[in-house]
Formats: sequence, structure tokens, C-alpha cells
Amino acid sequence: MRILFVASECYPLVKTGGLADVVGALPLALGRLGVEAKVLLPGYRGVADKLSEVTVAADYPDVFGGPARLLEGRTADGLDVLLLDAPHLFDRAGSPYLTPEGRDWPDNPVRFGALSAIGAAVGRFGVGDWRPDVVHAHDWQAGLVPAYMEASDEPHPPTVFTIHNIAFQGLCGAHDFQRLGLPQWVFTPAGLEFYGQCSFLKAGLVFSQRLTTVSPTYARELRTAEFGMGLQGVLDDRAAVLSGILNGIDTAVWDPAADPLLPAGFSARKMAGKLRCKSALQAKSGLAQDPDALLFTVVSRLTGQKGLDLLLPHVEMISERGGQIALLGAGEPGLEKAFRDLAAQHPGQVSVTIGYDEPLAHLLQAGAEAILIPSRFEPCGLTQLYGLRYGTLPIVARTGGLADTVIDANDAAVRAGVATGLQFAPVTAAGLGFALERAFDLFADRKLWRRIQQRAMGHPVGWEDSAAQYVELYRSVTGQGTGRDGDG
Ligand code: ADP
Repeated sequence: MRILFVASECYPLVKTGGLADVVGALPLALGRLGVEAKVLLPGYRGVADKLSEVTVAADYPDVFGGPARLLEGRTADGLDVLLLDAPHLFDRAGSPYLTPEGRDWPDNPVRFGALSAIGAAVGRFGVGDWRPDVVHAHDWQAGLVPAYMEASDEPHPPTVFTIHNIAFQGLCGAHDFQRLGLPQWVFTPAGLEFYGQCSFLKAGLVFSQRLTTVSPTYARELRTAEFGMGLQGVLDDRAAVLSGILNGIDTAVWDPAADPLLPAGFSARKMAGKLRCKSALQAKSGLAQDPDALLFTVVSRLTGQKGLDLLLPHVEMISERGGQIALLGAGEPGLEKAFRDLAAQHPGQVSVTIGYDEPLAHLLQAGAEAILIPSRFEPCGLTQLYGLRYGTLPIVARTGGLADTVIDANDAAVRAGVATGLQFAPVTAAGLGFALERAFDLFADRKLWRRIQQRAMGHPVGWEDSAAQYVELYRSVTGQGTGRDGDG
């Protein structure tokens, strides 16, 4: 079975969040199940240089205002990548979505319209003699893939669309829509029209054969006004084809026993290395060298979604009780400043690093005792999965994928030996405060804390189960097998 992924980011080539981790890891996990996957990405500046065996698979004289090529290559991990090399759209400084000044690129509709149009073309005609059986598009940047497919008279393979975060919808006005080369009939309420605008995300929702999101709880939440961000009605209509499949993590990249970014390795059986990581983290972050401190970490975008404003009123209490906080994140300037100020007020107890730092994220996951994730909504969340794997107990809001992956250490779960972290609801400052108190109480019983850590480290967080669920889904839309067991 052959699957074409279309997405706007992919670890390790280009990453701004969890989408990249999924797009980088899931195709490899599918490969282990006999599925051939290729990933189509925008050819952002410098990305082609990170690939090997690069060849030109197609030339396009004009893709929305300039010539473009389709490049084919591989990552060091063996991921097959197609790049839409369109310098007029993608060869620029800044992030995939934002100018160096932090504003959306004004031509984002055209940039990701082009990605989707080429995704649809590769879906229909393939590259060389490789033709996909299913096109799997991710998030709004690839939302127009099924629209371009439906707009053409050519036969096309079925499409699966995955919502990684419904907060980002890719809205543009009628003027931009005119530049996308789509027929006017798609710009209707039954199509991609959304309150007078063109919604790339809605196109993915209405024109795809199957919809998934990244956790079962989020799949239910999306159909409610509280979480659906205006698209709950559309999703409710399509409930019969909507399912939730949990994200996994790349357990080779995130392996506490063999992580080259750590000063010492550790495992559920041999935890001594975790203490060395804690000490290295305290040294690096300017925290007091205290092996007994309850050290909380945060690795997060600093936005309203992530709920970190709820932590601000508790920093004093954490510090007074001898706890420590090591935060890594970037985002809203007001939140960045609030945390920086708190770090200045609590030297040795609170450390704040503003920025994006992959190696530091590994050390924080390894060296901390607990990771705080008070998200107001969280489609799946990956940092709690890294926390579980590194024995860093997740303290999470009871929402989305957080609710599906962490088992709260209530009395019954502790007695049964199944607890892996703490959940709290309602998602308010008071709710988080209560969870923090519970964490201090649990930590006071160090033997119990270690037992929960070991349980957390044994929790399955890899891609195996979820990749198998995607294979089932692909089979259900194509009616074929993987080709491995002789039925495809
Ligand atoms: P989202 O995609 O909503 O940001 P996820 O939890 O799904 O949240 O994924 C976030 C990913 O980005 C994780 O891999 C996390 O480690 C990483 N990350 C977030 N902020 C930072 C940062 N400041 N530095 C390094 N990695 C970060």
C-alpha cells in the first residue's frame, strides 16, 4: 500500500510544533508495517540541503506566479521526501508561516494553496511509476488537497484528512480565493465557505473521505461548541467518518537509556542516571543544586491554549515549599515577560529560557521530576508522552489527548499500581493549584513517587498501535491490504 502525506512541516527537516514530530515519525512506523509512504513538503530555504540522493522528479513552468520543481530525496532516517521547490513561495527567511517580524506571510493562502494543488496532482498522477493509494493531508496547510481533487474530473485516490489543531483554520478572503484556481462552486456553505471567508481547514473536513484527529477525546470534544471553534456543526455532520487515533513519539529519538543529548542514561530499572541529569539541569539552568527539590519543568509554546498563565499565581508557593521550576518556551510577549520577572524574583528556584532549544528540551524532560501541561485544549500533546518515557510525571489538564494518555494518581489507581501522573479539572488556576499540592504530597513519599515514575516509563508511547490503526483506516477507504500479507 502506498500513501502520500502532504504537510507543512516534518521533523527533522522543519519543525514548529507537534505536527512535525508526527509527520516525521508516522511514515517510518507505517514503513515497518509494510506501507510505502512519501511526504510532500514545501521546499523552505535550506531544507533540500538536509536531504540526500536528491533528484528532480518534475518541472512545473508556472505554479502561482513562478516556476517550480518537485524534488525527491531522503532523510538520514530513511524517510522518502518530496519537496515543492518553488523559490518565489518558499525560499525566504523567517519561519514556515511567519515573516522575520512575526507576522503571517501575506501570501500564505497562495503558498499553501500551491502545496495543496501539487499534492493533489501527485495524488492523481504519482511521481515516476509510484502512485499513491491514499492521500493523507494534515492540517489547514494541506486542507485544499481534497478540494483540488474533487474539482477535477480525473479519478483520484481517496483522501484522509487529519486535524492536529482546529484553532488554526487557514482563513482567507474571496480575493485570495480567486487566485487559487478552484471553481466557484467550492466557495459555498456546503464547501469551504466559512462565514463569508474561505477556510482551508473546512475544505479538508468536507471534501475528504475520512477524518481523523489525534486523540479519541479530542474527536468527541471537536463536536462541541466549547472546542469546535465554529466547525462543530460540520464535524457533527461528519461524525460517521471521524475518529481519534493517538499520536505516538519516536522512541529512538526520545530514549532515556540512549539519548546522546543527556549527560547520563537511565531506565526504569536503573534510575541513578536521572539524578545526574537533574544535577546537570540545575547547573545549566542556575537552579540550586538540590537533589531533593521537586523540580517542575515546562516545555511549551507560551500561548493561551497552553494555559501557562494559570501557573503564574503558584510560582511563589512552589518556591516557598522548596520546589523548583525550569521553563523553556516562547510565544506571547506578556507571558514571556511575566515568567522572566518571576525568574528574577526567585533566583536559584525558577529558571526561564525564552526560545526554541531542542537539546535543552531533552535535558529538561530527563532532569525534572514532573512536567506541567495545564492546556485549555490539547488535541493530543506530545510533551506528556516524553515525560512518561523519561519518568517525569505529567501533571495535566483533563482535556483532549492529555486525558487519554495520563492515568491520574488517585487512591484507587495508586492502589492498583496503574497511576502515571496527575490530572486536574476544572482547568483553572485553582484546579492547577490543587494538583500542585497533590504533587508535593506524593513527592513526600519518595518510594511511592519512584514507583509511579517506573510505571510511567513502562507506559506504551511508541507508534506501533497507532500506526496499525492508520493502516486499518487506509484499508477501509481503499478496500486493500498492505501488500505485505499477500492481500494487496
Ligand atoms: P504543540 O504542537 O501544540 O506546540 P505538542 O505537545 O503536540 O504541542 O508538541 C510540541 C513539540 O514542540 C514537542 O516536541 C516539544 O518538545 C516541542 N517544543 C515546544 N516548545 C519548545 C521549545 N521552546 N524548545 C524546544 N522544543 C519545544
